[in-house]
Amino acid sequence: MERTLSMIKPDGVRNGHIGEIIARFEKAGLKIAAMRLQHLTKEEAGKFYEVHSERPFYQDLVDFISSGPIVAMALEGENAIAKNRELMGATNPAEAAEGTIRKDFAKSIDENTVHGSDAVATAKTEISFFFTDKDFV
Ligand code: GDP
Repeated sequence: MERTLSMIKPDGVRNGHIGEIIARFEKAGLKIAAMRLQHLTKEEAGKFYEVHSERPFYQDLVDFISSGPIVAMALEGENAIAKNRELMGATNPAEAAEGTIRKDFAKSIDENTVHGSDAVATAKTEISFFFTDKDFV
């Protein structure tokens, strides 16, 4: 069993895709272990994406992530990290495989609908950014 942090970004929420995205996780056997709708401040978004702070797209990313509510979820299941990344598709939706969330819902690399942890260590850090033990059911 593994846990990963999934976030439905502001475009996914704004465009009404929360239900469809969650349905894909559930159909793939991933369980929602914790979940919250939240509007991140610029400061919080900056902290979440701190690892990218030297990248040229950092400010745009922070502005976008704090532009409206997101849905944060801890997903649980066998190989949850890799499974979630597979369901999401490539970072750039133009390169995402058919049937992936980003291929079906994302507009651009800036507004690419979902975030998912990329490794065990980042999953742990990202889950604790949003959730504490008492948030898990
Ligand atoms: P992810 O794990 O697939 O979300 O990709 P990364 O962790 O590498 O990047 C985080 C987020 O930054 C991505 O989801 C994109 O929204 C954004 N991003 C990454 N690379 C680029 C880029 O080259 N240009 C722009 N504009 N945004 C990017």
